[in-house]
Amino acid sequence: MKKLSSSSLPLESDFEDAGLQTLAVRAGQHRSQFNEHAEAIYPTSSFVFASAAEAAARFSGDDDGNVYSRYTNPTVQMFEERLAAMEGGEECAATSSGMAAIYAVCIAHLKSGDHVLCSRSVFGSSIVLMEKFLRKFGIDIDYVDPVDSSAWKAQCRAETRILFLESPSNPMLEVADLEALAQIAKEAGALLVVDNCFCTPAIQRPLSFGADLVVHSATKYIDGQGRCLGGAVVGSSELIEPVIGVLRSAGPTMSPFNAWVFTKGLETLMLRMKAHSENAALLADWLEQHPAVDRVNFCGLESHPQYELIQKQQSLPGGVLSFETKGGKEAAWQVVDATQMISITANLGDTKTTITHPASTTHGRLSDEERQSAGITDGLIRVAVGIEDIEDIKRDLARGLDALITD
Ligand SMILES: *Cc1c(COP(=O)(O)O)cnc(C)c1O
Repeated sequence: MKKLSSSSLPLESDFEDAGLQTLAVRAGQHRSQFNEHAEAIYPTSSFVFASAAEAAARFSGDDDGNVYSRYTNPTVQMFEERLAAMEGGEECAATSSGMAAIYAVCIAHLKSGDHVLCSRSVFGSSIVLMEKFLRKFGIDIDYVDPVDSSAWKAQCRAETRILFLESPSNPMLEVADLEALAQIAKEAGALLVVDNCFCTPAIQRPLSFGADLVVHSATKYIDGQGRCLGGAVVGSSELIEPVIGVLRSAGPTMSPFNAWVFTKGLETLMLRMKAHSENAALLADWLEQHPAVDRVNFCGLESHPQYELIQKQQSLPGGVLSFETKGGKEAAWQVVDATQMISITANLGDTKTTITHPASTTHGRLSDEERQSAGITDGLIRVAVGIEDIEDIKRDLARGLDALITD
């Protein structure tokens, strides 16, 4: 990366011992000749060369300055450097969405005849990408219970190239043992790819447990206010370079405006994740006590079956929880429909609390059997807890839940 003006900014090496919050605010910033204090936005498709010779050098790669924004853009690079620093990775490639990040990793690191071992509890579009498109190119996929490390090991084959999962999972908050899976991937000669969307580096840094690549939907907590779509892949330069190659040729790169929003998002990410986690913990406690609720799934509850593993992997529980209402789908829909403030939307990672009924929305495509094996019952509700006052969130959910016991 060409430094535009580094005179008044710390060098990258100065950040080696810096804490995560310092990195979130400072890492990766480059100033222009105007010495602006905040990160600038560069909405330009291409860049001008001083001479024919400079143009030739840029194209040949002898000069790593900017050429065209599908390749590099200074605003996007600031976001990439900051997120890479926060995840503890060498390099980051920003993408137009979370799905573009997952797509680019697959295209870059898989070929015909390869095998992918995928958690059965991943984002719906990730499964569609694999089933509808990767299969078309002769890539085989098997699905595993993310929690069961021995199942991952047993299902690895000579052709296995990628182990892919989310931890914690949506909407059951199942937690996979990242260190154990990294070891299994290593022994199989495969890459462990972790979708770190639910935690973000503010809570969990999968590379530190031996994961090879981290993917993000920046659309969620990194933006944090539900405005922009974006994604990222973080890892070693060796593994990121092929991903960048796919992005440059196929084109799903991040726009400068979105990168600018996400860079702002990273600055407050830890503060927001703390606020989300705190609110979610209070809500989980309250739901556990509610007579209309059968069970609460949340990483901050001691009743979580992997509570100890969570203490090792995550610094906070995160903002997503799910709970089972007594009375199945009818009761669950009643609770969803009784809300007045909480947004009925499948999105998550927003300052505004959102509520969804997974069995009929995000997980509606699964067969009854698949849903059952994943624990997604008809009475299950997922809440992505926002940062509104907790009493207002409780009051909004109490409307439907209280009605269930008096009915
Ligand atoms: C939303 C989401 C994605 C996809 O991200 P987009 O930005 O919507 O493309 C991938 N993984 C997880 C866990 C998600 O929640």
